Amino acid sequence: MANISYEEILSIQRKANIVDIIRDYVPLTQRGKNYFGICPFHDDHNPSMSVSPEKGVYKCFVCGNAGNAFNFVMEYEKVSFYEAVKIVADKIGVSIDISTSKKENTKKSPLYDIYNIAYKFYQNNLNTVYGKDAKKYLLNRKIDEDVIKNFNIGLSLSDSELCNALKAKGFKDDDIVSSGVAVQNGNNIYDIYKNRIMFPLYDLEGNVVGFSGRIYNQKSESKYINTKETEIFKKGELLYNYHIAKKEARKEKNIIVVEGFMDVIRLSTIGIVNVVATMGTAVTKYQLNLIQKLAPNITLMFDGDKAGEKATNAFIELANGNDSNIKVVRLEDNLDPDEYILTKGKDKMIYNLSHAQSVYDYKLSSYKENIDFNDSKEVSNYINVMIKEFEKIDDDIVREIEIKKLSESTNVSYDLIKSKLKDSEKKVIITHKPKNIKINKYEKASKYILYRMINDNNMILYYFNNLSYLPNDTERKLASEIVLFYKKFNSFNLSDFIIYLEDKKELINLVVDISDLKYTEDELNDNIDNYFDVIKESLYNNQIVKLTSELKNESNSVKRMEIAQKIVDLKIKESNKDE
Ligand SMILES: [Zn+2]
Repeated sequence: MANISYEEILSIQRKANIVDIIRDYVPLTQRGKNYFGICPFHDDHNPSMSVSPEKGVYKCFVCGNAGNAFNFVMEYEKVSFYEAVKIVADKIGVSIDISTSKKENTKKSPLYDIYNIAYKFYQNNLNTVYGKDAKKYLLNRKIDEDVIKNFNIGLSLSDSELCNALKAKGFKDDDIVSSGVAVQNGNNIYDIYKNRIMFPLYDLEGNVVGFSGRIYNQKSESKYINTKETEIFKKGELLYNYHIAKKEARKEKNIIVVEGFMDVIRLSTIGIVNVVATMGTAVTKYQLNLIQKLAPNITLMFDGDKAGEKATNAFIELANGNDSNIKVVRLEDNLDPDEYILTKGKDKMIYNLSHAQSVYDYKLSSYKENIDFNDSKEVSNYINVMIKEFEKIDDDIVREIEIKKLSESTNVSYDLIKSKLKDSEKKVIITHKPKNIKINKYEKASKYILYRMINDNNMILYYFNNLSYLPNDTERKLASEIVLFYKKFNSFNLSDFIIYLEDKKELINLVVDISDLKYTEDELNDNIDNYFDVIKESLYNNQIVKLTSELKNESNSVKRMEIAQKIVDLKIKESNKDE
């Protein structure tokens, strides 16, 4: 917990006007009681975000992002909840101290200090006589003084100079070894990096947490040596250049994703800085989430080789079903972006980036590469694969265009492809329909119950005593948070509750959504027990489904009898209730 109380945060919220806070980031126009602006959290072209000074909340009608002033700042500035509170407090001239215990802990890790000293040490080496050759090497590769400074590039020397420097500053051998810059041998510790150009690696906040060391004047089996994973350096959770790219990506509404840090550095030399590197070919779900939060548009530019193509496909697969708009750049001659700029020049790179392909165009062309167009069977397979891809396109116009392209490239008539696509769509719809109806009925009841709870304090305890269950996880969590809040403060109001939720964005988006629902006077006078019954029915159905599957998997005949009896009991109980 931060050393600022819930009450203090409440008082900051009361003093801050959400319209003024958001106006610092996005222009707003007043319409009636509310204000409207372009939503910064998706690729918005019409003002889709409304701000209600009365409720103290904002909400985007397209992407569903919602919350109070703190949540807006949090999302926009990519900071923690408490940092957002501090930013809002600063804006209204209230001074607070937000150092959180979590931050103190991470700052306390001696590894941060070790890396801080190490990168400055390496940097300094590069400017001494020992760094002459390395600097010449860098300048030859068109990495000039400015780039060296911007990316804190340095040099390790031929002996254990870093270890000695760290020991002289009082660091313990154990800590130096566990930081990954040294190894233990007998009673002594030695530098791992020798005669290498040192590129610092950063965490999301811009702290140095590791290195990649590159050879420049010797032969070695490994061109690069990367720091091993430590408590502060977890490869799958980092993106190189994140702390620098986030501002520009937000402005450009586009983030370029590359594989290596050299690609990032090289792109910066031609003025392109909205770039992050995944530091490896396999992108993790965690990294994907970070990337998607940076900007609504993503441009993938992995290496031009086979591995880069595989990584591109894996990324698209991983992001499948998300709203991000992904485009793809494939570089020719197996080049990576760094080599590409060096050999083909800035203009060709910029041309490539501005002509990035849509995912579907990319798939059309990449599948096509392996097709023998004289073999009608292969062409037919190709068309079927692409039709499966087209089913995923929501936008009718985009789909039309893609069908046309496929028809032109295969010489198969547009109408035939279109009719095949229609057939497969029908199949998809039919298989999904029954499930949707069920969800709607329970969802409707759940939303109604939640709406009544946030508008009538009596309903909160009534829910707690008589139902305490909703089928959907998020809705159930929201309901129990409402109950907890009510029990703690003996009353409920929406804006205080949103502050109480801090950074639980999923719940905040949902509760703002619920508060905006419209019911008629008659509906609001409905007996809530009827809605509870609908939910109980879902509970009952769930139990039957669960027991039935238990029954299928149970081989012990006594236990099978017991389960069967439970099912019968449930069914009798339910049918008695209806009468
Ligand atoms: Zn939005």
